[in-house]
Amino acid sequence: MSLRFYNTLTQQVQPFEPLDTVGKVVRMYTCGPTVYDFAHIGNFRTFVFYDILRRWLKADGFQLDHVMNITDVDDKIIRNAVAQGKTLNEYTDIYTKAFLDDCATLRLERPETIARATEHIDQMAAAIHKLEEAGFTYRSDGSIYFRIAKFPEYGKLSHNDFSGMVSGARVDVDEYEKNDARDFALWKAPKAGEPNWETEIGPGRPGWHIECSVMAIQYLGATLDLHAGGVDLVFPHHENEIAQSECLTGKQFARYWVHSEFLLVDGQKMSKSLGNFYTLRDLFGRGFTPECVRYLLASVPYRKGLNFTFEGLKSAQTAIERLRNFKFRLESAKLAEGLNEELAAKATAAIAEFRASMDDDLNTAEALGAMFEYLRHANSAFDAGQFLAGNLAAAQDLLALFDSVFQVLQPTGQEGGMSEQEIETLIAARTAAKKSREFAKADAIRNELIEKGIILEDTKDGVRWKRK
Ligand code: AMP
Ligand code: ZN
Repeated sequence: MSLRFYNTLTQQVQPFEPLDTVGKVVRMYTCGPTVYDFAHIGNFRTFVFYDILRRWLKADGFQLDHVMNITDVDDKIIRNAVAQGKTLNEYTDIYTKAFLDDCATLRLERPETIARATEHIDQMAAAIHKLEEAGFTYRSDGSIYFRIAKFPEYGKLSHNDFSGMVSGARVDVDEYEKNDARDFALWKAPKAGEPNWETEIGPGRPGWHIECSVMAIQYLGATLDLHAGGVDLVFPHHENEIAQSECLTGKQFARYWVHSEFLLVDGQKMSKSLGNFYTLRDLFGRGFTPECVRYLLASVPYRKGLNFTFEGLKSAQTAIERLRNFKFRLESAKLAEGLNEELAAKATAAIAEFRASMDDDLNTAEALGAMFEYLRHANSAFDAGQFLAGNLAAAQDLLALFDSVFQVLQPTGQEGGMSEQEIETLIAARTAAKKSREFAKADAIRNELIEKGIILEDTKDGVRWKRK
């Protein structure tokens, strides 16, 4: 069976196919962070999900054209920037950089395009102008509102019935409650002490929702293959994105909508407002590695709530260690010739099951189940001397498949560098070369290590090494 996702729009699990069936390019948009503070690991559950989605699409042979926005103007940002006497940019630059650094630390692939809202204000004004001309908006006190009664399909994503709504009721804040269907602000009138832009529709600043419609269409065209976000964005944000975009282009905005569930603490959403959150900095301060956090966030399928606990983080650490030990075993063991056929069949089955689980709406838990079941068998075979040379390639293939998604095998600080095993092997070769008076060879090995950031120190107790 091929790749399929639960589509919030149709409320069904559907086979996934991009519009570009020949080039297999997936045009994907994901809602990015609002850079008003450090992101917490609840936010990162969503961003890790985007990464797993990206990586699995690629593993399935698709190419990506992925856009993510950075919301660098909104109610909260303006409030905080004004309170600290900073310009908008001075304020948001700090948290944008922190966010991108955190993403790199968690090994999140960078989307092909990262688009900042404040760099697209004129395009937003032009889109609002177009919506005005087509009669979808009205003005009140210098602000411009989207008249949702003009879009009868409003509610089709959140599956809310808004037929009884009061036309003309307005909302000015960017975020509001579920079921509260009101005309929302596309453009907000200037206020004293707040940043605003001079544009073809007059002075002011954009509401939150319009940025995603405008940047998605600008970079990806009228119809996206895939649009993702956290479940809290289904209403009103994504409902509003659909209304704006489909009224602008007359075309379906996104074909598949995928939404990830929350990271919870004691059954409640991890959030700034509840104060029950941890940032990556908090967790690193307690000695946890980025790989632990990544593994924990990735290990539960995205449509299930994930309860955060420190025990969970510790189990993630144990799981990673087991996998790394197994990898080391594969790299270092002297294997007898031959093939253990029973184990070979288990490897083939595990690879197939890993793939099938990921294809099944990214069921990471089952994929991990397949990985660990094989690991148990393989370790027993090792212990019994029954892991043979012919079994090596398939075991390495399975580990590589696992790590192409989970990305936890390489310890942080050693990415792109050499493993301890490789370093020790080279050092032993250098020592042997010196013993046999092949000094040029010994020097060449030392230089190779230096180039890779490894410094050697010859002591009376032997060779010590450290990373630069
Ligand atoms: P924000 O920076 O507040 O716009 O949030 C960025 C993303 O984090 C949004 O897509 C939210 O859905 C997501 N998010 C916020 N809290 C959580 C949580 N506890 N678990 C998972 N995702 C979350
Ligand atoms: Zn958005």
